[in-house]
Amino acid sequence: MTKPFHDMPFKSKLPNTPASIFSRMSALAQEHQAINLSQGFPDFDTDPKLIEAVTKYMNEGFNQYAPMPGHISLREQISFKYDKFYGINVNPADEITITAGGTQGLFTVISAVVEKGDEVIIFEPAYDSYKPAIELMGAVVVPVRLMAPDFKIDWEYVRSLVNSKTKLIIINNPNNPTGRVFSVDDIQQLEYIVSAHNIVVLSDEVYEHMVYDVHKHISVLSSEILRSRSFVVCSFGKLLHTTGWKLGYVIAPAFFTIEFRKVHQFNVFSVNAPMQLAIASYLDDIDYYYSLPKFFQEKKDFLLHALKDSRFNVLPTQGTYFMLLDYSNISEEQELDFAERLTIEHKLAMIPVSAFYTHGDNQQLLRICFAKKLQTLTAAVDILKFI
Ligand code: PMP
Ligand code: GLN
Repeated sequence: MTKPFHDMPFKSKLPNTPASIFSRMSALAQEHQAINLSQGFPDFDTDPKLIEAVTKYMNEGFNQYAPMPGHISLREQISFKYDKFYGINVNPADEITITAGGTQGLFTVISAVVEKGDEVIIFEPAYDSYKPAIELMGAVVVPVRLMAPDFKIDWEYVRSLVNSKTKLIIINNPNNPTGRVFSVDDIQQLEYIVSAHNIVVLSDEVYEHMVYDVHKHISVLSSEILRSRSFVVCSFGKLLHTTGWKLGYVIAPAFFTIEFRKVHQFNVFSVNAPMQLAIASYLDDIDYYYSLPKFFQEKKDFLLHALKDSRFNVLPTQGTYFMLLDYSNISEEQELDFAERLTIEHKLAMIPVSAFYTHGDNQQLLRICFAKKLQTLTAAVDILKFI
């Protein structure tokens, strides 16, 4: 008799990978009807003009496969932005590929670059998709733990981790969840390390347009040394408040883009056609980029000010739409326990920062997402002030 499949020996390729903390906390929030400031997505509407543009392209018949690297109008729009904002020349033909969100971009870069036995340096707290993608390639994750309150990178230590097996360094700037942005010195230190060794850089810049106060986003593309060996990953979900559309892009030098596209064409081939065209036409309005930091800065400042009277200690956010709250004055509970209790008892969901560390380092920190309506943030503050 043939055995049912579940009785067959099967070795999981990711044995220690549970459902993501974002799915877990969002589900808990829903179950307990809590305000959800956990998973990073806006609760306000997408601009109706953008939605109308998608409908227009669908009605006009743009409903079949887009070109494998993405619609050229969108790639040209991206190239225009880099020129306009940073004075950086990116060739739309052979240096930009449109992806199904940042996550697919990250996964495809890692698949194209990393081989069995390679070592990949990541900085923790780290976005959750890096580690499993590296492990699936049979490579080894080498985490650099950065700790609160400033999460400063000890570059001397990073240098000490580099060896002949180091293939890739992944950075996330601006950083989710710490809200920290790279300084000129960080960029120079990275240049110094990678140019002394044959190391590729993967720079996750999905929050590039959410940078506040005196801080500035420095893309790795602005450094000659880094540009020649880097992949940059971006997300339209973050830029346009459309996380559910799952669109993004990857920029890399032509020789890297060839390798990227070899993998891309067999894991998605191409991505949503009418939305690409709609985004390309929507971004003709360059003012949109300028309005974004101001839009989020108001939300950040509102929270910062409103939480002054609370028992939480707010850590400074330089970029992203996340803020860290230190609750050490309130409780000694572990972060996950505290986050779950707040969701169930106080009806407010946030993310335990320990989930972003390989070893679950507990620093009594929760991540709050402020990409929310003022009304939602006000309701959240009314809860936080009494905890
Ligand atoms: N990188 C970081 C740091 C993120 O926070 C996210 C999620 N927003 C992504 C990548 C993935 O972006 P996307 O939703 O476009 O897949
Ligand atoms: N990037 C989002 C966050 O950090 C979550 C995306 C996801 O759920 N995969 O909250």
